Amino acid sequence: MTNREKNDVRQFDRRQALGLMGAAGLGMASAWGEQVAGAQAAPPPNPNAPVAPWEPSTSAPAIPTWRTELKQLAPNVWTYIQAGGPNIPTGGISNALAVAGPDHWLAVDALGQPFHTKAFIAAANKATGKPCGRLVNTHHHGDHVAGNQFFLPVEIVSHEYCRDEVVKMAAAVPPGAKFPKREGGADGTEDRKIAIPVTTFSDRMTYRVGNIVVEFLFIDPAHTWGDIVAYLPAEKILFAGDIFFNYVTPYGHNAHISKWIEVCEKINKMDVNVIVPGHGPLAGKKELAQMADYYRALIPEVKKRYAARMTPGQAAADIKLPKYQNWRGPEQLVNNVVRLYAEFNGTLISDVLVEANTKAAQEYNALKAKRV
Ligand SMILES: [Zn+2]
Repeated sequence: MTNREKNDVRQFDRRQALGLMGAAGLGMASAWGEQVAGAQAAPPPNPNAPVAPWEPSTSAPAIPTWRTELKQLAPNVWTYIQAGGPNIPTGGISNALAVAGPDHWLAVDALGQPFHTKAFIAAANKATGKPCGRLVNTHHHGDHVAGNQFFLPVEIVSHEYCRDEVVKMAAAVPPGAKFPKREGGADGTEDRKIAIPVTTFSDRMTYRVGNIVVEFLFIDPAHTWGDIVAYLPAEKILFAGDIFFNYVTPYGHNAHISKWIEVCEKINKMDVNVIVPGHGPLAGKKELAQMADYYRALIPEVKKRYAARMTPGQAAADIKLPKYQNWRGPEQLVNNVVRLYAEFNGTLISDVLVEANTKAAQEYNALKAKRV
């Protein structure tokens, strides 16, 4: 067994274990960093049932390894990229942005684990020589907002939809909850309170941070119904949040996939040189187009099987996308198939399709187990 295989098996075991823990009283809202600990709480359903990992391929294009770093992109602009690569777990490991003005710096996204958020804040404080003065969340997923609490008392800003979803997340966190222990992420003692955005907008909001213009734009539903991007027109930098996964399989459990492709096309028409993904290494338009190509390749495969009346679980187990097999988390395809089926049959909603995901994952796992 290669290291990669061992690693994937370990990850699967961990996710399976988390699923079992959910039944025992530890809730899990997402495999991507939204775990909630609290023995007294009824466990929320797991929207992303664990799915058997795909084997890496020697014939598919390899992916690079990238390290955790605060990287300067322009004067007073940094991105905080978190490590990933073939043997490095990437679930819930996201990126952030820091833009410094004369008195404080503006943060875009809060990351999802206490150690990660604290390391980002410390690195940006050191680089800028100033404290953080404002935080903007690109969307509501735990690996982008669970760290909000460590930024307080700064103002937290988001799209209206994002705030509504964070309010629901906060209501699901029981009193006394802790961040579950996670190697390199949390030691299990940190209190967990979801800090809710206090300022919202629906289309666009512009901040001037010193002499840097930062435009926050909602383009259309994509990865969620409330994704915003941070656009720095003078610097030609765009922080895409989870509209962009680079070398990581795009995670579509809240997505409108066909609109997501259109949003990628719109971003690629903007005057931009550097695009920071929500997950994966720093990139540009070519890599964003490559991610949209993943969905362009997936859609006809799903359509064929939808027309043949296969279930989403059967379709997911049957589809092969060799070109993308070495991206991290290729088995996330199951959630993407569920979303596409809902688009095709007109039942797509902004919420995660928990029941359909669970059913598809069970069916997919059973079919994959038979083929081993
Ligand atoms: Zn996300």
